[in-house]
Order: sequence, then C-alpha cells, then structure tokens
Amino acid sequence: MRTVGILGGGQLARMLALAGIPLGLRFVFASPQPGECAFELGRAVVADWRSVEADPGVLAEADVVTWEFENISLRALRRLEKILPVIPSPEILAVKQDRLREKQVFCSLSIPTADFAPVDSAEDARKAAEVLGLPLVLKTRAHGYDGKGQVIARDISHLEESVSRGGHLLAERFVTFDRELSVVGVRTADGSHRFYPVTENIHREGILRVSRCRPDDPKWHEASEYVRRLMDYFGYAGVLAVEFFEKDGGLLANEFSPRVHNTGHWTIEGAETSQFENHLRAVVGWEPGSTAPVAHAVMVNCIGFLPAPEDVARIPGAHMHIYGKAIRPRRKVGHITVRAGSQALLEERLRAVGRLLDEAV
Ligand code: AMP
Repeated sequence: MRTVGILGGGQLARMLALAGIPLGLRFVFASPQPGECAFELGRAVVADWRSVEADPGVLAEADVVTWEFENISLRALRRLEKILPVIPSPEILAVKQDRLREKQVFCSLSIPTADFAPVDSAEDARKAAEVLGLPLVLKTRAHGYDGKGQVIARDISHLEESVSRGGHLLAERFVTFDRELSVVGVRTADGSHRFYPVTENIHREGILRVSRCRPDDPKWHEASEYVRRLMDYFGYAGVLAVEFFEKDGGLLANEFSPRVHNTGHWTIEGAETSQFENHLRAVVGWEPGSTAPVAHAVMVNCIGFLPAPEDVARIPGAHMHIYGKAIRPRRKVGHITVRAGSQALLEERLRAVGRLLDEAV
C-alpha cells in the first residue's frame, strides 16, 4: 500500500483521493487551513508552509508528495524534496508563481501568447498602454486565480488608479477571442505523453462556468503540441493543463496549470481514465491510462449555489459532485457532469441542469 502526500486539502485533493482510494492508495493532506474538504479521505496535517519548511518530517509517512494548488512555499517544497520524492518537480512552480516568467517561458518555447509588458510604475503603465493599446488587462504577477487580482483598464486614468495600488503587475493585450479552450495532458517521468481532447470553456466574471469536451476539434493537434513542449521543457511528471484563446483561427496560450484542472473534471465520467487517476498514475510511476472520451460530456460548475442532489439524480446522464465546502458567493462548491450518447440528447439534459441552476447552460 502506497501513501501519497498532497499539499492542499481542497476539492482537487479530494477528487485525487476519490480516484486513488480504489487503486489501493492512501492519502495524507497538508494544508494551513483546518477543516478542508479533502480531510475526511485520509490523514490531515494542519500546518502552515513555514512549519513544513521547519519540519518536513510531518509528511514522512508519505511515499511520494504532490500538490493540488500552486501557491505553495517553494522553500518548503525544496526542504521536503530532501526527504521525499516530490512529483512534479517543484521547479515549475517557481515559473508558475510569477505570471511574467510564465509568459517568458511561453515565448522561449515559441508558444504564442497575448502581447504583454511588466508594469511596476505609472510610467510603465503609460508605456504599456501605448504599445498594447486600450483596453488592456492588468494582472497581479503572483497569487492570481479565478479572475482575482485582475482588472480590465479601459482608459489611462483607470490604468493609473489600478497601478497606484502598488505591487508587481503584468499588462496584457485585451484579446477579443472567438472562444476559450484548454488541453489537459499527462506525462510520465520517462517521457511518454497522452492528451485529452480539447475542452471548450466558458468563463463569467473570470470564473469557469462550463467545459465541453470537443473530440475531433481542429485545434487539438496544435494545442496538444504546445502542452507537450511545456511538459518536456520541465521534464514534467503528472497532469498539466494549458488554457488558450482562439482568435481568427490562431491560438494564444493564456496560462498553464501544473496540476489537475477544473476544465478536466468532465474526464471523471467522460473519459476512459480520469485526469485524477492519470495524475496519480504518473506520480506513483505507473503507465497512464487511455484519455479517450467515452461519450459526449459537459461539466457545469456550481458556483455559490448547490442544487439538491436528488433533483440532479432525476436527470439521466447527470452526475453530481458536491465538494463539502461552505457555500459562499463566487466559490466553486460542486460540479455536475452531463453525459449522453448524442449531441441532441446532451443539449436536452443540459437544459434540465440549467433550470436547476437557474442559468442557461
Ligand atoms: P486568468 O486569471 O488569466 O485565468 O483569466 C481568467 C479569465 O479572464 C480568462 O479565462 C478570460 O476569460 C479572461 N482573460 C484573461 N486574460 C485576458 C486577456 N488578455 N484578454 C481577454 N480576456 C482575458
């Protein structure tokens, strides 16, 4: 029996454990927050990153350690690496924790991305507006997710006001994209890869609402080649996702996530092997499973609201996932995957889910 240590105890850690327990894996979670939703599925260590750094032995019962989110102290990870294998290798987080470095890696690998400029002062902001045009998107370089730390500056005064709040920022050209899509890939330490089909994504207010699996998407080859390039560059092991904008037939990488990803949740019921199982397989050194879809599948996030599971159960092909988190506005508290044998049936089932969520899907 092998024990996997997971840094973080949120819904991604929970879904990793739900995939790993049937494989005979055990879990220990480390998180600074008590009462995390994954904790009921293994042993929990409540410890801030400084205490993991001071005593990485708190995770010594694990055979291998992975993570479910990106804002983890690198120093703690490097200490941990001295006593246990950490997979993927933490160096990718040094890049991921700074949006500027993330963009620079895209450029160095010839992965197209929206034009950008670092902004540390009002003067930088004015120059960025000249070069990139207005409106532009200002993002905090660190700790941004789900649209947090992000504003669309429409004019110079708004731009200057946003910059005056301080901090290191990244300005990006505002992309009037035709659609957003992502590809989730898995790589093993010995360099074999598999890629899930393209997922087409709809965000509202910076938060993912809906992900549709699009088998045979014309952008799959190009997008998965970019995911492969990133994974090979980092000698990556595990699941990694890249989100793209499509504009006028071309792709622009928005960001990568070195972990299991919300746009891959449909794979639990919609693919031969889920992204969670495949991440664990890569982490413990097993062969990855097939990433082929098994049906038409769509995932709908439940944000700040959960329908009654018995109502979801009445919709054929709908699968409810409740994360066990307190309900708060803008918070992802669950998701529903809808599956069907045909596109027409899928749309009908999605309309029924939309009625439960009180929004069109
Ligand atoms: P992010 O925090 O980078 O994942 O961005 C969250 C969402 O904001 C994206 O999925 C897009 O819908 C939107 N967004 C981010 N960057 C841009 C951009 N440069 N142009 C237009 N929309 C953007």
